[in-house]
Amino acid sequence: MELLIACMLIGLIPGVIAASRGHNFLLWWLFGAALFIVALPCSLFLKSPERKAEEDARRVARDAALAQLVANTTAAQGAATAAAAAPSGDTRDCPWCAETIKAAARICRFCNRDVDPVERLDPAAASPGPA
Ligand SMILES: [Zn+2]
Repeated sequence: MELLIACMLIGLIPGVIAASRGHNFLLWWLFGAALFIVALPCSLFLKSPERKAEEDARRVARDAALAQLVANTTAAQGAATAAAAAPSGDTRDCPWCAETIKAAARICRFCNRDVDPVERLDPAAASPGPA
């Protein structure tokens, strides 16, 4: 009997915490009386509904800002890559060391590793002649 009373009393703690955050006191009191060890941390992590809505709105705004930033960065990188590649169309980056090498190179002159020559979409090169 004393144990039951102790449980009821100790259950008041998560009940009061949850009630202060806009949740059902009675439910949390019963929860706390039955499973105090579980109910206490749960009640401490509770958020009031208004605060949750506020945080959701903030998160949506932050996600939108982040998406915008990523889009801007990607666009800027694309423009920079295009600008860098445009003046010298017959160069590319080595896949191993990232140095700029000739597009037709089979071996990187910086790291001496084999690289696949870039296939040109050139009709004369594409057709190997009469077979
Ligand atoms: Zn290399």
